[in-house]
Amino acid sequence: MAVIGGSPTAAELTLMLYERYGNQVYLLTHGAEPPGTDEYRKLAEAYGIRIITEPITEFSGRQVGDLCCVRFAEHEEIFVKFGLVALGTHRVYNDLARQVGAELYAEEVPPERRQIVINHQGESSVPGFFVVGDAGRRRDEITMKQIYTAQEYAVRAVDTIDHRRRKARRRLLLADD
Ligand SMILES: Cc1cc2nc3c(=O)[nH]c(=O)nc-3n(C[C@H](O)[C@H](O)[C@H](O)COP(=O)(O)OP(=O)(O)OC[C@H]3O[C@@H](n4cnc5c(N)ncnc54)[C@H](O)[C@@H]3O)c2cc1C
Repeated sequence: MAVIGGSPTAAELTLMLYERYGNQVYLLTHGAEPPGTDEYRKLAEAYGIRIITEPITEFSGRQVGDLCCVRFAEHEEIFVKFGLVALGTHRVYNDLARQVGAELYAEEVPPERRQIVINHQGESSVPGFFVVGDAGRRRDEITMKQIYTAQEYAVRAVDTIDHRRRKARRRLLLADD
């Protein structure tokens, strides 16, 4: 199993993959310096994670959809079945949220990468402005970016909006009496 990338996120993925599956894991930084923290070095050593910094020259497979080998100019080829690209092209489409002044998560990251803070109903800091899926982040949870979590956010948001609409409708009808 190979993780392709040189960022702390890529390095963290190598640890997670080893801790979950116990396979041989490689970090292929494609020319970048690997994260140099003592903690990562120690854990990577303990887990037998192999770090290759040389640029990748070729991916090869027995057939389409069947990765088997990664090649480098100098380093000997490695044999892996799975490659996970972690080159950091993550982006959050938060333009509308920014326009309405919704609170964003994590001031230290660039604006285009900040998720929108939501509560457990998917509502942002702007009342009535809901966010579902990868763009939203609950303050008390690690980031959840999966299809099923996006669906869960959507169900809660729709339920909340529906509940408010029906309550408002009843209020109007009762006020007529
Ligand atoms: C490589 C990869 C593999 C993954 N594998 C899994 C997996 O196996 N299982 C799993 O559960 N999850 C997986 N995920 C995560 C999953 O794809 C996301 O969590 C999910 O798609 C989030 O749904 P979303 O609706 O929030 O965003 P998206 O699916 O990204 O949809 C957002 C849509 O909005 C469109 N858009 C953006 N801005 C505008 C605009 N201004 N106007 C109109 N449209 C706009 C975008 O083009 C896009 O189509 C994977 C993600 C990646 C990148």
